[in-house]
Amino acid sequence: MAELPSWDDLLEGRGCPLCHPRADFSEFTYLVRKLAVSTLYLNREQTRPGACILIYDVRHIVRLDELTSAEWLTFANDLGRAEEAVYRAMKPDHMNVESLGNQVPHLHWHIVPRYRGEERWRAPIWTTRLEEMPNQRLTDGEYAALASRIDAELE
Ligand SMILES: [Zn+2]
Repeated sequence: MAELPSWDDLLEGRGCPLCHPRADFSEFTYLVRKLAVSTLYLNREQTRPGACILIYDVRHIVRLDELTSAEWLTFANDLGRAEEAVYRAMKPDHMNVESLGNQVPHLHWHIVPRYRGEERWRAPIWTTRLEEMPNQRLTDGEYAALASRIDAELE
């Protein structure tokens, strides 16, 4: 991963890699669909098939408490739609939905299908040190097929 700005700069949104506008396709993300106030991407890293990230688009914000109630309701609706689409497309055994922001403090959700028999089944996926995290990449055709499968469930 490229060197990130300091934590204090990231908190203020200086050099924030998740601020809008951002590329539809990057080293880390593959566009599925823009929703009301956020954008759904496949993670390029696909150890758990269908793993996605949902990034808040409206402004740089770090925590949920910075949203008004109306903003949170709209974002929560995006999150609910995204989680349901990933679940319906992938039919995993369980779903993890997590907002951490420990690397990049810009409000986003990790939507992670979990599968019986996978490494770390019934445990969090985040206890591994960053440099030891898996990095399972797909071909462009495989990303396109997966994004379209999840997008089809967003109706
Ligand atoms: Zn940001």
